Amino acid sequence: MSENCNIIVFSDRAYNAIIDETFSKHPLETGGILLGHVLDGGIWIVMEVLPPGPDSVHKSAFFKYDEKFVNYLANSVASKYEIPLSVLGLWHRHPGSYDTFSSVDDGSNLKFAKFSIVGAISGLVNIDPDFRFQIWHVSDPLKYEAVNFKVGDDMIPEEYFALKHVKDSMLQIPTEIAGDTEELCSYSEDMNEFSEEENFSNVNKVPDVPSYGDDTAAIIARLDAIVENTRNANEMLEAIVDNTSDKNDLLEKFVKKAQRSYMNLKLLKKQRKNAESK
Ligand SMILES: [Zn+2]
Repeated sequence: MSENCNIIVFSDRAYNAIIDETFSKHPLETGGILLGHVLDGGIWIVMEVLPPGPDSVHKSAFFKYDEKFVNYLANSVASKYEIPLSVLGLWHRHPGSYDTFSSVDDGSNLKFAKFSIVGAISGLVNIDPDFRFQIWHVSDPLKYEAVNFKVGDDMIPEEYFALKHVKDSMLQIPTEIAGDTEELCSYSEDMNEFSEEENFSNVNKVPDVPSYGDDTAAIIARLDAIVENTRNANEMLEAIVDNTSDKNDLLEKFVKKAQRSYMNLKLLKKQRKNAESK
C-alpha cells in the first residue's frame, strides 16, 4: 500500500473495457489509458479506460499505443464530464504469467508518474488461463507499490457520473405522456388483459439487454464461445475418425485379399514343384 494510493475503485464500464480489450486482442499484448479522479485519503477512481487506438501495435510480447489517437480521445472523453477526468495511468497485458514490469514498462510508468505529484497507477493483465488483474502505484523516483482494487459503480459518488451538458433534471422521464394517446388506448383494447396504465409502462420500457458490468458475465460469454468452438472442432474430428475407420475397413479387405493371393501363389508353387519332381 502506498501513502498516495490506498485503494483503486473501477467503474463497471472501466473494468469491463479492460476485459473486453484483453479478449478482443487475445493472445496478443494490448493495453489502455486509465482516466478518473484522485480523492482525499488516497482513493483513486477509474471512470474510463481508453482503447489503444487504430494504429496501436500488438505483438505476443510487445505493445504500443497509438499516441495521437489516445491523446485526442483522452481529452475528448475527459471533458464530457461535469468534473473533468484526469489521466491516472495505464494498463497492459503481459504474455503468460509474466507479472512484473519490464525495463521498457519502467520507462513508460515513470513518464506517467511524472505527470502528477501523487504519481500514477499501472495495471497488468495475465491470462493463465483465467483473467488476472493486478495494479501498482508508481512514484517518481521509480517505486512500485501493489494496491488493492474494487469494481463497482455503487462505490463511486454519484456526482462523478454527471455529464457536463446533461443536468439531472434533463435525464428524468416525465411521469405523464403529453399528446396523442388514442393509439395507445386502441392498442390497449387489442391487448385487453393489460390495464391502460400497464400499457404505458410497456411502451416506455427499454428492452432488457445483457449487461457485462462484471467480469464474470464477460468471461462466461467468452467461455460459451470457446465451448461452441470446441464442439464444432469435435464434430469435425468425429467426421475425420469416421472417414478413417471406413478407410481402415477397406484396407483390411485389401490385406485379406492379398493374403489369399499369397496363399494361392504358395499353393501353385507347391503344385508345380510336385509336378516337376514326378
Ligand atoms: Zn510490459
